[in-house]
Amino acid sequence: MPHFSHLLSLAGPTSAPLLGFSLPLTTSLNRRFLKCCRQLSRSYNIESCIPEAVAFQGVSDHSGLYKFSVNESDRFWGAVARQRLSWISPFHTVQNCDFSQGKIKWFEGGKLNVSVNCLDRHVHTSPERVALIWERDEPGTEVKITYRQLLELTCRLGNLLKRQGVRRGDCVTIYMPPCPLAVASMLACARIGAAHNVVFAGFSSEALADRIRDAQSSTVITVNQGVRGGKVVDLKRTVDQAVQNCPSVQQVLVAMRTENTVAMTDRDVPLEEEMMKEDVVCEPVAMDSEDVLFLLYTSGSTGKPKGLVHTQAGYLLYTALTHRYVFNYHDRDVFGCVADIGWITGHSYIVYGPLCNGGTTVLFESTPVYPNPGRYWEMVERLGINQFYGAPTAIRLLLKYGDEWVQNYNRSSLKTLGSVGEPINTEAWEWYHRVVGDGRCPVVDTWWQTETGGICIAPRPSDPEAEIVPGMAMRPFYGIKPALLDTEVVTGDALCISQAWPGMARTIHNHHQRFTETYFQPYPGYFFTGDGAYRSKEGYYQIVGRLDDVINVSGHRLGTAELEDVVVCTIIIMFSLAVMVQEDVLAQQLREMVSRSIAKYACPDFIQVVRCLPKTRSGKIMRRVLRKVVERNTDELGDLSTLDDPDSVHEVIRGHQRLRGDGKQQ
Ligand code: AMP
Repeated sequence: MPHFSHLLSLAGPTSAPLLGFSLPLTTSLNRRFLKCCRQLSRSYNIESCIPEAVAFQGVSDHSGLYKFSVNESDRFWGAVARQRLSWISPFHTVQNCDFSQGKIKWFEGGKLNVSVNCLDRHVHTSPERVALIWERDEPGTEVKITYRQLLELTCRLGNLLKRQGVRRGDCVTIYMPPCPLAVASMLACARIGAAHNVVFAGFSSEALADRIRDAQSSTVITVNQGVRGGKVVDLKRTVDQAVQNCPSVQQVLVAMRTENTVAMTDRDVPLEEEMMKEDVVCEPVAMDSEDVLFLLYTSGSTGKPKGLVHTQAGYLLYTALTHRYVFNYHDRDVFGCVADIGWITGHSYIVYGPLCNGGTTVLFESTPVYPNPGRYWEMVERLGINQFYGAPTAIRLLLKYGDEWVQNYNRSSLKTLGSVGEPINTEAWEWYHRVVGDGRCPVVDTWWQTETGGICIAPRPSDPEAEIVPGMAMRPFYGIKPALLDTEVVTGDALCISQAWPGMARTIHNHHQRFTETYFQPYPGYFFTGDGAYRSKEGYYQIVGRLDDVINVSGHRLGTAELEDVVVCTIIIMFSLAVMVQEDVLAQQLREMVSRSIAKYACPDFIQVVRCLPKTRSGKIMRRVLRKVVERNTDELGDLSTLDDPDSVHEVIRGHQRLRGDGKQQ
């Protein structure tokens, strides 16, 4: 079987297929845009940031542009969509949305192909520009893939999928670690009009089977084995177990990440070998703006996964615009988002946003501590990363290892640091800014969700030099109009969004009613995020976390980050997660301790429980598990497969039993 690197070298210097689509990068407005961007550092002129602003009367600064984007939403989004996407046919209606029915439609009448926007138009202008840097598990073994190569891989894979019977409207499940063939698989689906359903390659066979069944996939794409943190994981074996309970699956395409052979059945197709038989040209399908681009399952508060649906044009436009302006991304920058492609962050800021912008994006296969806690910063030096985008969980972990792991490496390439996924506590924010960014890089705490498609609240864009408050998401992005509404216990802190934006999810796959009930019925006329927030007197937004994770003390809401901040002040604790438990003795104790501001010293038993937390890649999943433990619903822990060490949950259960006196009420 040819190995992946072999495939690349065989790809050869074939000429890039040229398509008959309009290429707006060559328009005079775009030339003006590039010129304006170069002038940005010298003078401040709003057109130098967003060239479309030329046409927006009376807009001269960031706050004017923001107001225009929410008050004249059709004009704003219409102009940027025409300018930044390549259309096969133009749209006739910018938006057609009605929150009362959960109806969200953008750019109706328009036709486009997402893979053309992410690949062909850049191949036309700069075929040898690097699209992907695959940062493999072993440091120093990275692989660079140009736009021309990525287009060829995508086309071969698209042709192979068609040969295997995948048609427009089908949904292909992808169970792969971050690697170029995973990105090519996503884009190949987009090219031939199929939807993709990427399942994080840490999920168990049961979780994978649930998602394959719900998506009704006939095709699964996977790798023989994954490699992470020096360990080899048998991903194909997990797929074999999963598909036993998935009657819809007819074929499994297997790529070779390692040299080790795996048992192949009649259902299995050797991916690289079969791809090599395919042509490097694959005609892109003209998709309607509102055709499905992908499903992505989130666990949800009940643990029952919901398949959020994102569509073509609006999602692509929103991720591209946020990628450029939140991170101040410029052509030829190297963008390093260290999330996994199995989460929305990977979809939006490893794949679609950066590639739509013709950027160079890093695919990180390893862990923050492999082979040592200097891994991120050694990678920043070696790859010359300009924007680094990571999770607070990892930042909090790394700061405990000390500054030398950072200072050993040259980080002068860094321009912007980003944080995503959870509230970032002040200590971690300060360290990220002061030590990692040497106090000179803006830190953008970006708030958003799988449901929102892209970043909705972040300190940038803003007027140049505008202040950034530590640990605060601060400013709504263009077109985002937040509203803080009353909850049952406290006035005005349920974070809602009062008008539609192009990146938002359109429905829950097969459950539109659940979609409207969850997001639009709690506050009629608004999209309800499920998060709590407050607005400072300056008008900045501070997210305090999931409303069901937040603790109410005498009318003040304390988020998980604030509590975790207190717990990690102690030198013995490297990592903590706080959870809210309704009407529970422990929660009551905690409330009292917090209200007396002595949690640090007064809750040794609580700290005892927190100390033995299993390491997790996602604090959100662990919070759900912890809440079930504390509520003593240990039969309903749900899927634990994304934890680094699922067995250690039992240690937590035992610790909690000790704390409660073996289950007796104290
Ligand atoms: P997910 O859909 O899995 O990405 O999770 C989205 C949730 O993560 C949000 O609803 C928030 O609760 C949390 N979240 C994401 N980013 C932030 C942030 N910057 N600050 C606070 N919470 C965040």
